[in-house]
Amino acid sequence: MRVAPPIGGATRIAAVFGDPVEHSLSPAMHNAAYAALRLDRAYLAFHVTPAMLRAAVRALPALGIVGVNLTVPHKERALAMVDRLSAEARMLGAINCIANRAGTLYGDNTDARGLERDLAMRRVALEAATAVVIGAGGAAAAAIVACLRRGAHEVIIANRTPARARGLARRLRARLPRALGRAALEVRGLDALADAALLGRAAAVLNATPMGLTQSAFARLDYARTRRECFFYDLIYSAKPTAFLRPAIALGRPCADGAGMLVGQGELAFELFNGVAPPKGVMRGALWSALGRSDRAR
Ligand code: NAP
Repeated sequence: MRVAPPIGGATRIAAVFGDPVEHSLSPAMHNAAYAALRLDRAYLAFHVTPAMLRAAVRALPALGIVGVNLTVPHKERALAMVDRLSAEARMLGAINCIANRAGTLYGDNTDARGLERDLAMRRVALEAATAVVIGAGGAAAAAIVACLRRGAHEVIIANRTPARARGLARRLRARLPRALGRAALEVRGLDALADAALLGRAAAVLNATPMGLTQSAFARLDYARTRRECFFYDLIYSAKPTAFLRPAIALGRPCADGAGMLVGQGELAFELFNGVAPPKGVMRGALWSALGRSDRAR
């Protein structure tokens, strides 16, 4: 294993801001890439409360911090705290990273591209297919965009609060590039997860809610109504299969959790902060070790 140069007077910092943040596996991934590249940089986790977010973001140029990732609950509020935004961040209505470019703060969002990269790696093609995305927050927005970029022609947004999903669909319709904007976005309540006709035509079902993480049970979903090849993806990840994925695994459906998306968004943020891509497989290897996984392809 390669070892990073020791921390010294010239070491530059990157970080993640979150509340809570102690559980974050981003430091393991980014520091493994710094070590592999022998870059004199270190990645830390800062517990930043919503009340301190603005002060923490303002401090980035003063401290020469090269970039920060943003996790729950900062992604939407931080959007208004940067100097420049990527078109992707505007479309998704949230930022998950800020790069410090000589004192100018550039907000971007690598979640949709990170998921798209994971789906591509898993050869999940959705050409002219129907995808069901559960949830209507920032993660759901990223999942919808990733499905559209993988070719889906119809995305059903199933959310506990349909009004929120309608707002998300409206925003995406207004901001999607023309090539993706032709696809149909339909809003449903969680009852859609028991709709046999819908499940029977779905090529993929993606969970973009914390359900199953914050409580053991997942919403009622008629897994048996899905086709044998229907792909199940949980944006949350854990050492063991998640509550959303367990019934799909029992039925032999192809599935994956969000660890690969975390790697994808992290690799893209690393390149944005440091101007160099992480060596292939290093961040994935670090995350898989942190999760106690031996199967690198999962
Ligand atoms: P968010 O903005 O808070 O949205 C949460 C969504 O989940 C909302 O649609 C909410 O429905 C729904 N929800 C929450 N609790 C629920 C429950 N008990 N029953 C039914 N629906 C429930 O969160 P987010 O930022 O989109 O993140 C969602 C999840 O994705 C998080 O667990 C996050 O860790 C994960 N994520 C993973 C990655 C990755 O790299 N793998 C990246 C980003 C996010 P209502 O609208 O009805 O409240």
